[in-house]
Amino acid sequence: MIVKKYKNLQLYVECTLIELMANLAIYHYPNDNGGFLLGYYSDNLTKLYIKDFLLIDKYDSSPVGFKRELNLKVHNFEKIFRETGLYYIGEWHSHPNATAWYSLTDLQAMDSIASCNTVQLHNPILLILSMSSNKLLDFNFFLFDEGRLAVYE
Ligand SMILES: [Zn+2]
Repeated sequence: MIVKKYKNLQLYVECTLIELMANLAIYHYPNDNGGFLLGYYSDNLTKLYIKDFLLIDKYDSSPVGFKRELNLKVHNFEKIFRETGLYYIGEWHSHPNATAWYSLTDLQAMDSIASCNTVQLHNPILLILSMSSNKLLDFNFFLFDEGRLAVYE
C-alpha cells in the first residue's frame, strides 16, 4: 500500500494498481495513455482510497476536449457507483520520456473537470506516470484545489 499526504489529507493506493497502469503505459509507449480514477472517501473526507481505474479509448481520433466529453458519457459513473460503490475521483495519464509533473494543458483539463456541472467533482485528483520504454520512472498525485494543482508528498 502506498500512502501519500497533502496537509491533513491522505491518499491510499495499492502498488499493484500503479503497476497495472504502468504496464498499460509501457504497452502504449511512445504514445501516452490514461483514463479515469475510481475510489471513495472516508466519512470525514480526509482519507481517499483509490481502488480502480478506467481507460480512455485512444483510438478515437477526435480532439482531446471532445474525446473527454465523449468518454464521460460512455462511462456511466452513476451505474459504476451503484454496482461497485466507487466514485469517479479524477484522472491518470502517462508522460512518456517526460517528468511526472503537470503541464499547462493538464492544469486546464483539471480546471474544466472541477467546473463541469455534470460530474460534480470540485477537487479532482490527477495521477501522472513518468515512463521510459520499459519501466515506470516516477509518479505524482496532485489535488486540484482553488485553481491550482497541489502535489501529494
Ligand atoms: Zn500530462
